[in-house]
Amino acid sequence: MIFISHDLRVVRQISDRIAVMYLGSIVEEGSPDAVLRAPLHPYSKALVSAVPRPGRRSERTILQGDPPNPSARLAGCAFHPRCPAALPACARIVPELTSVGAGRRVACHLINRDGLQVGSVA
Ligand code: SF4
Repeated sequence: MIFISHDLRVVRQISDRIAVMYLGSIVEEGSPDAVLRAPLHPYSKALVSAVPRPGRRSERTILQGDPPNPSARLAGCAFHPRCPAALPACARIVPELTSVGAGRRVACHLINRDGLQVGSVA
């Protein structure tokens, strides 16, 4: 069964796996625990930061701008106009959804195959 929601607390309770989507494409996938405890993709990080946590001071990531028109074909990563970590190459090269180990996949130039953040795109 596929359950679609923006409520990450509910998603965590009922899901065996989570796929985070942006503009109709999966940008991160993995177990609920892994994705929600330590998101790798910048969009996943922004979503997780928006979940209220009692007793904790909010460090919410506010994304700038609006989602682009889904019918307009953007070059590069679809998230690059709003990504706080975008590199120049992100506007040219589409990141592939890549296995990063432990049953996780991420589509971001900043994350290498070991699930580690790298500083630049070759
Ligand atoms: S590929 Fe670039 S623009 Fe896309 S999420 Fe990763 S860092 Fe941000």
